[in-house]
Amino acid sequence: MDATNGVHVVSATNGTKAGAQPYMNRADEVSDPLSLVEYHPPKRLVQLLDFQLPSEGKGKDGLLDILERILLYSVNTWDQGFMHKLYASTNAVGVVSELILAVLNTNVSPALTVIEKATTRAFASLFGLAGPHAGGVTQPGGSASNATALVIACNVLFPGTKSEGVSGKRFVMFTSAHGHYSHEKAAQICGIGGSNAWPVPVDSQGRMRVAELDRLINKARTEGPTPFYVNATAGTTVLGAYGLLQEIAELCRRENLWFHIDASWGGSIVFSEKHRHKMRGPEHADSPTASPHKMPGVPVTCSFLLTADPRRFWRANTLPAAYLFHGDPDEEPGGCGKADRRENGAASGDQEVWDLADLTLQGRLPQARPRVDLPRPLRPRRQNRHRLRHGLPPRVPGPPPRERKPAAVPPGVLLPRPRRGPGGFGAEREAD
Ligand SMILES: *Cc1c(COP(=O)(O)O)cnc(C)c1O
Repeated sequence: MDATNGVHVVSATNGTKAGAQPYMNRADEVSDPLSLVEYHPPKRLVQLLDFQLPSEGKGKDGLLDILERILLYSVNTWDQGFMHKLYASTNAVGVVSELILAVLNTNVSPALTVIEKATTRAFASLFGLAGPHAGGVTQPGGSASNATALVIACNVLFPGTKSEGVSGKRFVMFTSAHGHYSHEKAAQICGIGGSNAWPVPVDSQGRMRVAELDRLINKARTEGPTPFYVNATAGTTVLGAYGLLQEIAELCRRENLWFHIDASWGGSIVFSEKHRHKMRGPEHADSPTASPHKMPGVPVTCSFLLTADPRRFWRANTLPAAYLFHGDPDEEPGGCGKADRRENGAASGDQEVWDLADLTLQGRLPQARPRVDLPRPLRPRRQNRHRLRHGLPPRVPGPPPRERKPAAVPPGVLLPRPRRGPGGFGAEREAD
């Protein structure tokens, strides 16, 4: 590790700051017609950017040089005229947060997990989800939240799909004709198929017609496919319409369907005392999602998938090595709940979910890696461990530190930790 890393980072960020500041200031010059973007078609842009991957590093000057051209030819999202993709630029706190995240460059962070838990809890409570475990998980965007919700719904309502897939079953999901395209894409991702995402007609205000939804559910039931999921939109992408959430929730309860609310754009309305009444009934959702990068100036990408009970998400998405709830006798390895909506918010066991990565479709804590415990007498005493970690000589003489032996496990195989409850060791798994 380069001992001068910090010096280089400060020097590069100072250089970047010097380049970025005029860029942000230019956004305020409303009289400048090019303050929003100096647009060029792709071929011309290739010439102007003149970007090659150099065979040798060009150092700080090279970095700042290309940075200048990137800023010059990019859409200036700080401009007041920027309204594309329903997001606005960020602010000082947003930029500094991004900088800290880059410095941390972390994959699994206990401190950030605590913050994520507290934040999702507060956000969920603004949605009226106030159970003892209410919270959620962050996602890489609203589309990802929608796809994750669909997988969770499938795994909770039809646990067999988790290992067997949707083969042999034809599922149908419903979304408003004005719903976001990501729902159809999510249906493709999950193997449900885009044509099984049925669009429901909207009324003159752009809200999904509940009577039409009812009719289409019945149509699916009589024609054969299995309806299981309804997406209502709170803040449609085009008109900003808030769906009739309470009525849709009632229908979903009656029909035993998962109720998702895509509030990617409109969900941040909960921060406004004046306008929050427009979203009536978000607390009925199984999985509301909102993306603060759309409205309150949080940098992209920032999306939350919320729930009355994250343990339900966890059971849906965790992999068989159940190394989180060690010894939870209620938990089957790989168990993902029953196809029963009554279970909503009433997951068994009372543990908090701390492995938030395991709620997502991408991650999990790396705890299941092979681990060789040193025999007790060889462990450095507690006082020594602290001193050794800080480069100090041991205070209490103990046995010399021994190198840990590599585990006698073939590469690529993960051993789950032993479970204290019934079941003992789980199955061996491929390394991720
Ligand atoms: C923007 C938007 C999405 C997608 O969010 P991304 O963060 O761009 O993936 C989904 N649903 C609605 C209603 C949106 O407005």
